[in-house]
Amino acid sequence: PEYISVANLASVLKMRVEDFVKKLEDLGFEDVQNDHILNAEHAGLIAQEYNFEPIIQAKGEDGDIYAAPARSPEDYAKLPPRPPVVTIMGHVDHGKTTILDYIRKSSVAATEFGGITQHIGAFSVPLVSGKKITFLDTPGHAAFETMRARGANVTDIVVLVVAADDSVMPQTIEAIKHAQAAKVPIIVAINKIDKEQAHPDRVKQDLGRHGVEVEEYGGDVQTVLVSGKTGQGIPDLEEAISLQSEVLDHRADPEANVEGWVLEGTTKKSGKVATVLVRNGTLRQGDILVAGTTWTRVRALRNEAGAAVKEIGPGMPVEVDGWREQPIAGDEALQASSEQQAAQIADLRTEKLERLQMAKDMEAINETRRLEA
Ligand code: GDP
Ligand code: MG
Repeated sequence: PEYISVANLASVLKMRVEDFVKKLEDLGFEDVQNDHILNAEHAGLIAQEYNFEPIIQAKGEDGDIYAAPARSPEDYAKLPPRPPVVTIMGHVDHGKTTILDYIRKSSVAATEFGGITQHIGAFSVPLVSGKKITFLDTPGHAAFETMRARGANVTDIVVLVVAADDSVMPQTIEAIKHAQAAKVPIIVAINKIDKEQAHPDRVKQDLGRHGVEVEEYGGDVQTVLVSGKTGQGIPDLEEAISLQSEVLDHRADPEANVEGWVLEGTTKKSGKVATVLVRNGTLRQGDILVAGTTWTRVRALRNEAGAAVKEIGPGMPVEVDGWREQPIAGDEALQASSEQQAAQIADLRTEKLERLQMAKDMEAINETRRLEA
């Protein structure tokens, strides 16, 4: 069976809890409280009253919760677009950090909040068109690989930075392999275009030799000439990303139960916090999230500028506080319907891990014995 609290259902239906409780009593429910738990059947009936399809987190036979199953293409097409999530990769010193810093500093959000950006592992940039792009602030292959190894396909697009004076280098090739293995499309940013020694055409030819067919040579990979130093071409890069995202048709359901990835977990003076990249649903204050073996009832949400936000939608990163234990990067964060359910799931997963560890230990002991015999 599936359950949802009255407060959660009210939030899904975008109603004030008090109004919703009154409505439920009108419908014949007795003694309704905010934390009153409704079963799936009742919740479904109520949701239908409000013309909502009830969306319930998939619950496994093992008692754990899982992300909702993928939607049919027809249903998917009805959802609103979400910002693409971009990872910057490339050879060392080709300008990944410089480009990210330029984008971050020139973004509207940064200027709005006085440019005091915090490090939360990701940031979102509003474009002139009103669309947004989310950049993962973890350049480098290690983070990308860790996530992917855990089955987290966090990135929608890889921006491959290649210095125009240096062209394709070993880590460029490595990045291409990573992107191709993860089936993530590439956009090439040919950087340092301000330098006299810049040879963008050579870069394009070299890329072709490594399986990246750029548009100028009949392929479908976009290239943009940029300078992270002067900012030249950066708006074109953002446009290229936005265009690619439209082609890929990135969508998500703001009304669904929250699903996301933990990008980073840290412990601050104020407690244990995590940067969560919301993949589906809208995360709000008071929501309950489980990630791995830890959980939180969200007290405050902060954006990358450190400003408090009330809610955050799909494709956006946010800092979430109040975790019982520090969450681990790469863990999936899923909305639970009550603190009780969250605690139960965290316990269940801890037990699962302990059993797994015990099995491993036994195996190691057996192996030692075998070798000794
Ligand atoms: P990363 O290792 O890929 O993160 O590279 P960095 O962003 O740290 O840049 C390496 C060096 O290249 C730094 O000294 C930057 O100032 C310089 N650099 C980065 N982008 C440009 C650019 O567009 N033009 C020029 N002239 N120098 C750049
Ligand atoms: Mg760097």
